[in-house]
Amino acid sequence: MKKPPTRYTPIRIITLTAAFLLILITPYLNMHFHFSFIQGWFQSLSIGNLWFVSPLEGLESILTSRSIYGPLLVGMLIPILLALFLGRVFCSWICPISFLSELIDWIIKLITKKKFRPFGIKLSRRILWFALIGEILLALIIGAPIFVFLSPPGLVGREIMMVTLFKTVAIEGVVVIVVLLMHLVSKRMFCRYFCPLGALLALIGIKRRLVMKSDPDQCIECGICKKSCPLGLDPQKGENLSPYCWNCGKCSEVCKASALRFVWKDL
Ligand code: SF4
Ligand code: SF4
Repeated sequence: MKKPPTRYTPIRIITLTAAFLLILITPYLNMHFHFSFIQGWFQSLSIGNLWFVSPLEGLESILTSRSIYGPLLVGMLIPILLALFLGRVFCSWICPISFLSELIDWIIKLITKKKFRPFGIKLSRRILWFALIGEILLALIIGAPIFVFLSPPGLVGREIMMVTLFKTVAIEGVVVIVVLLMHLVSKRMFCRYFCPLGALLALIGIKRRLVMKSDPDQCIECGICKKSCPLGLDPQKGENLSPYCWNCGKCSEVCKASALRFVWKDL
């Protein structure tokens, strides 16, 4: 008897929600309870003695300051290792932009009773690499780490901190609104084509150990995997093995033929 597919979505939504609550509650606890065990958000986050730095913000800071700060490298280590072994899982399981996009989809479904289906603008996936190159070049030209100030995943945390501590919002927060409006036009448009951090994580995870593997012998070619993939990837064409796949597990859970499953690749 075939094993029923693992339902990754509920676990992923719980993880996304927990990650969002972490950055939502932390500034409040810092301010009102002098709680300092956790500080920051998904740009630079400290938990006790552990420090996590977003690899792109870290890279930009190194390139624009032309100096290497040891603790910064250590802070980048865990996120880099995560991407190296598990691929772009920060995007699908942790990023606040993912959380907000899922929330929007859920609200739309609740109101309209239909699954959210935006128009769907198809561009070349390669644009993602140009977003990363353009971002780094721009930072080098102006000599400032611009992604530190304008990264949508980081801006969500910064805006929450601004509201909690200073009762105001920063103007850059408009970038988050634009990113979410883009999602309303075409599903995960910013993440698919324009996020430099997503691109860097995809690049680091190009040879990831955890991959979504398809079994062509089991596949009944129904195409439901492609329809359900948030990034529009087609596992029937092997795109689940491409650097763009962010290991969300959605295609596996909808596959009635159990033709898709996570496997741990040998070195
Ligand atoms: S692509 Fe960028 S915005 Fe989208 S989920 Fe990944 S880090 Fe977040
Ligand atoms: S191919 Fe599957 S695991 Fe990869 S992003 Fe699409 S749905 Fe998620």
